[in-house]
Amino acid sequence: MAITIPLRRGFPVAIRHGSRRCFSSSRNLQATWGFIGLGRMGYPMARNLRAKIPAEDTLFVHDVNTAATKKFLEENPHGVRVADNVREVAEKAETIITSLPEPQHVKGVYKDMLEPATLLTDGFVNTERLFIDCSTIDPMTSGAVADMAHSTGQGKFIDAPMSGGVVGAQAGTLTFMIGAAPEVVQKATGVLSFMGRRVLHLGGQGAGLKGKLANNYLLALNNVATAEAMSMGIKWGLDPKALAGMINTATGKCWPSEVNNPVPGVVEGSPASRDYEGGFGLALANKDLKLALKAAAEADVKLAMGESARAVYDAAERDENCKDKDFSVIYRFLGGKE
Ligand code: NAD
Repeated sequence: MAITIPLRRGFPVAIRHGSRRCFSSSRNLQATWGFIGLGRMGYPMARNLRAKIPAEDTLFVHDVNTAATKKFLEENPHGVRVADNVREVAEKAETIITSLPEPQHVKGVYKDMLEPATLLTDGFVNTERLFIDCSTIDPMTSGAVADMAHSTGQGKFIDAPMSGGVVGAQAGTLTFMIGAAPEVVQKATGVLSFMGRRVLHLGGQGAGLKGKLANNYLLALNNVATAEAMSMGIKWGLDPKALAGMINTATGKCWPSEVNNPVPGVVEGSPASRDYEGGFGLALANKDLKLALKAAAEADVKLAMGESARAVYDAAERDENCKDKDFSVIYRFLGGKE
């Protein structure tokens, strides 16, 4: 039987009677959580999660990088256990969040968590798991992983890619775009609210990733187009700030023109104004663009500009003056006047 109890920040979480938790002295009231992938995003997300769940709950963490788990345990000594492997996380935690680099990592981690399909009988918790994958991967891989969880009845799997970057992850202000069955939306929203400010439910499993990739495709193209338009105007003799100001009251306005303008000095504090340091990395922008192109090809979507943009990003990534910089460095790559 499931009961619903109110938690901090006012979201309800279902706690099931009859859960077995071997490490708990006061059974049934302490929830167990798992976090896999303590990288640039995952580390601060897991820290926020640990800080906001009830003190008596336990968070199991795992990363192949043992330096990350060691540091996490040192910095968050209460209610944290380092799991030896991802299967241990899946066996001991009811709600498991993953934040991993690429599709192959997500596939591998979930295979190891879900096989053999005995989590509900051999695990330490006998309730169906909630798996939340925050990685940016392609919808096909995500769908295959969801099938692994759903077909074996071991848990519900949702995709919850995020935006807001490392700054948002640290501040707990991320936006999550989720693809989830209706019955898990409320619970997933509550969990993600511990790490972010907004949760947008876009439809069934896979919908979060599709939304994220469509958005980031547009962003990647807008970034190139803004760099080209700014470069053109400046080389014609226009003042950069005046040009950007005009565009931002006219129909060319977009996030790269208004917030992340690629011309140094146009927006104070932007990556372009600090030698393109920080911000949204060129490699990540290119990764998302490639995922969008792959998913578009699978759905037979005709794209006019995708491949040209990809060629620009690939070449910029190989350029010593551009690689490892914010993606607005495309302006520099295209020979824009700095
Ligand atoms: P990252 O490379 O910094 O972190 C990934 C972590 O996963 C690393 O600590 C790595 O050791 C760990 N890992 C890899 N394989 C593992 C395995 N098999 N088992 C356990 N741990 C494993 O990446 P990130 O920047 O934190 O990004 C994570 C995801 O979020 C990516 O899919 C990325 O595209 C997406 N994302 C990143 C940003 C950003 O600004 N960094 C923004 C939005 C979305």
